[in-house]
Amino acid sequence: MDISLLQPNWKIEKIEFASLPGERLRSAGCNARKGVHGKSVPTPLAQVTINGLTGFGWSRITREQAGALVGAPLSLVFTEEGQIRPEFWGIEFPLYDWIGKLVQKPVYQLIARQALDPENRFTVTCYDTSLYIDDLHLEKDPEAVELIQSEAVDGWSRGHRHFKIKVGRGARFMPLPAGMKRDIDIILGVREAVGADANIMIDANNGYNLNLTKEVLTATKSANLYWIEEPFHEDVEFYTDLKEWMLKENFKTLISDGEGLASPMLVDWAKQGIIDVIQYDTRDYGFSRWQELGKTLDAAGIRSAPHNYGSSFGNYATCHLAAAIDGFQFAEWDEIAVPGLDASAYIIQEGRLQVPLLPGFGLNLDQQYFARKVKEDGWIIHS
Ligand SMILES: [Mg+2]
Repeated sequence: MDISLLQPNWKIEKIEFASLPGERLRSAGCNARKGVHGKSVPTPLAQVTINGLTGFGWSRITREQAGALVGAPLSLVFTEEGQIRPEFWGIEFPLYDWIGKLVQKPVYQLIARQALDPENRFTVTCYDTSLYIDDLHLEKDPEAVELIQSEAVDGWSRGHRHFKIKVGRGARFMPLPAGMKRDIDIILGVREAVGADANIMIDANNGYNLNLTKEVLTATKSANLYWIEEPFHEDVEFYTDLKEWMLKENFKTLISDGEGLASPMLVDWAKQGIIDVIQYDTRDYGFSRWQELGKTLDAAGIRSAPHNYGSSFGNYATCHLAAAIDGFQFAEWDEIAVPGLDASAYIIQEGRLQVPLLPGFGLNLDQQYFARKVKEDGWIIHS
């Protein structure tokens, strides 16, 4: 990143923190492992002030950690190549937003691998990640299929064209045979509802085993799934068998994994061709680390699909990350409205995110509201 406009003696003057409440459009049900995810999703935000200018972004930094960063000069924050040093990754999103605002450029332009035409709108393919296991209250499979179909149609009406379905009902919340049957009926039903051109992914949250994975893939072959995510716990024996079987059976479906433990083994397995898509988390693995990882994955021809669930800010940040990674697949989109955080410049159209041509992350924070939240149950540290 070009940091030539930054003065090395400028200091982090202030860090403010508050968590803003937010809500999904509808309550999210279970996945294969966990119970109802619900509607309420807080957005923890830190705002930094440097040279009188502010930048904000998702952060889990504690007051104590922030105390050690306030007062630091930018010569300590950045490497000479313009990377944020690991000690400051806890505020990496606010720092990227700040630089973007300083140089009046969107973050995606700052981190892009190739120069982007500033006249062209930057767009990123995305998928609706909201098709959870929302049907457990329904006795009959056709009703369950209709419900998840209606959720996909609802996503379609909001501009989505690609969808991920939670599966693994038989792992915990339904008897195994009944859960398997319902998973299969729902996958086929969603394909019917969204048509042949939509990409459909399924995510078992480790709720299958090898044989169940093969069973689902066989029964839904006509649905032409784009990827199967976390079918079971990372296991090289199982994944090797699955991949060999899929090649033999002529499946084009990809295998994706990585959100849970960000296991470093997965990159090696992807290099060996055993899995296809790496899904470390945008926030927890991190924005700076993902840019480095993206280079490694691109060089090896491995696909990247940073995980993002449960974060409005993660929706937006993941879109910017796409500019830094050639093999970027999709932004995972979990629609969450956060009062005080204006994201209206992000527009979903025909399955693609139009990323705003605005400084930083292109979001607007209601400063009066944020200040009130900081006062109520956040904190502020001055140098
Ligand atoms: Mg997942």
